[in-house]
Amino acid sequence: MNLYEQVGYFCDRAFEKINLKESHKSILKNCYRELDVQIVIHGQDGEPKEYRGFRIQHNGARGPYKGGIRYHQMVDINEVRALASLMTWKNAIVDVPFGGAKGGIRVDPTKLTKKELETLTRSFVRKIDMALGTHRDIPAPDLNTNPQVMAWIMDEYGRKHGHTPAIVTGKPLELGGSKGRISATGLGVFIITKEICSKLEIPLQTSKAIVQGFGNVGSYTAEFLYRAGVKVIAIQDAYATLHNDSGIDVVKLVKYLKETGGIKGFKGAEEINSKDFFSVKSTIVIPAALENVITKEIAKKLDCKIVVEAANGPTTMEADSILNEKGVVVIPDILANAGGVTCSYFEWTQNLTEYYWDEEKVNEELRKIMVRAFSEVYELSKKEKVTIRDAAFLLAVKRVNTAMQLRGAF
Ligand code: NAD
Repeated sequence: MNLYEQVGYFCDRAFEKINLKESHKSILKNCYRELDVQIVIHGQDGEPKEYRGFRIQHNGARGPYKGGIRYHQMVDINEVRALASLMTWKNAIVDVPFGGAKGGIRVDPTKLTKKELETLTRSFVRKIDMALGTHRDIPAPDLNTNPQVMAWIMDEYGRKHGHTPAIVTGKPLELGGSKGRISATGLGVFIITKEICSKLEIPLQTSKAIVQGFGNVGSYTAEFLYRAGVKVIAIQDAYATLHNDSGIDVVKLVKYLKETGGIKGFKGAEEINSKDFFSVKSTIVIPAALENVITKEIAKKLDCKIVVEAANGPTTMEADSILNEKGVVVIPDILANAGGVTCSYFEWTQNLTEYYWDEEKVNEELRKIMVRAFSEVYELSKKEKVTIRDAAFLLAVKRVNTAMQLRGAF
C-alpha cells in the first residue's frame, strides 16, 4: 500500500466507528482541489527546463488550507494527496482552525543554483496564486524547503497582493517568522513522549532512546530527551549510525553537526552498520527521517516499549499491526509531530494581529495544546478500546465531520 492508501485505510476504520454514509465517506476522503502545474525555467545554459508542481487542498471545513511545500525528485501526486489529508486530520487533532493541504515540486534541489531555486519558487507561486490567500491556503516549509524559500513565496505573493506576511509560515524571523518555530516540532515530539511515558509509568531518567534522523526534528527531539535525562544511545542520519550504550552527549553532537554538517566522525560514540540501527534495544524509538522505514521485518525485531512517529508515515501498515500485537505503543505522526503546525498557527496569528510573542509564550502555548491533544486522544483510545492511532483518526474525523455538518455540506 502506498501512503495514500494507508491514510485511506485508517480513515475507513474511523468512519466505521461513527457510521458515516458512503457518500460522506468519499467526500471526507477525497481532496477538494488539486493543482498540477507545469513550471518552466531557463537554466544557466539558456535551455528551458520543465518541472511539475502540485498544490493539493484536502478539506477546508475547519479553516483555511494549511500544509508544507516539499522539493524532492520523488514527489508524486498520490503522496501529496496523502500528506494533504494527513494535514487535515493533524490540524483537527490539535484543534487549530485550519484545513489540510500539501504541495511539492518534483525536483532535485541539490542540482539547482540558488538563483534557479528562487526562479522556480517564484514561478510556482504565480501558477498557484489563485488558490492561495491568508484565509484560503497558507503554505509552509517541508522537505528541502526552508525559511529562505518561504521568504521568496511571501515576496512573490506580495508583488500582486501587497505586503502579506500571513500568506506563508516558517518565514525568517526578520520577515515575521515566529520565535520558537525552529524547535517546535521537536519540542512537540518531546512533550508527547513525556506524556506517554508518564501514562505508562516509565520514568524518563531510566529510559533509553534511539533516534533516526538528526535534522530539524530529530536533533531537537534528541536534545530535549537528553536534557530531560533520557539516555540517547543510538542516532542515525543519512551518512552514519552512532551507538553508545552509556548515552551520547547530544548537546556536543548538535555542536558537532553545526560544525561539520553531519554526525559522521563524532568521537563520543562508536559507528555501527546502518542496518543494525533498529536492532538496538531501547525504551523509546523515534523515527524522525523518512516514510516507511519501519517495515514488517523491522517491526518484528524492534525491542522497545514505545515508538513515537516524529516523521510523517514512518511505519508501514503491516508493521503497525505487528507492533500492536507485540504490545509496543505507537504514537502516530498526526499527533506526535503536530507541534510544527501548531507553531505555524501561532505565526499566522501573530502576523494577522501584528503583535509578536516572546519564545517563552510560544513554548508555553505549544505545551498546553500538545498536552491537551495527547490527553483527548489517549482518553478516547481507552474509552473506545482502540489503538492511539485509531483514536487519533477517530477524534479528527469526528471534528471534521461535525464542521461539514454545521456548514450544511452533509
Ligand atoms: P531534515 O531534512 O531537517 O532532516 C532529515 C534527517 O534525516 C537528516 O538528518 C538526514 O540525514 C536524515 N536521513 C535522510 N535519509 C536518511 C536515511 N536513509 N537513513 C537515516 N537518516 C536519514 O528534515 P526534518 O524537517 O527534520 O523532517 C524529518 C521528518 O519529519 C520528515 O518526515 C518530515 O515530513 C517530518 N516533519 C517535519 C516537520 C518540521 O517542522 N520540520 C514537521 C512535521 C513533520
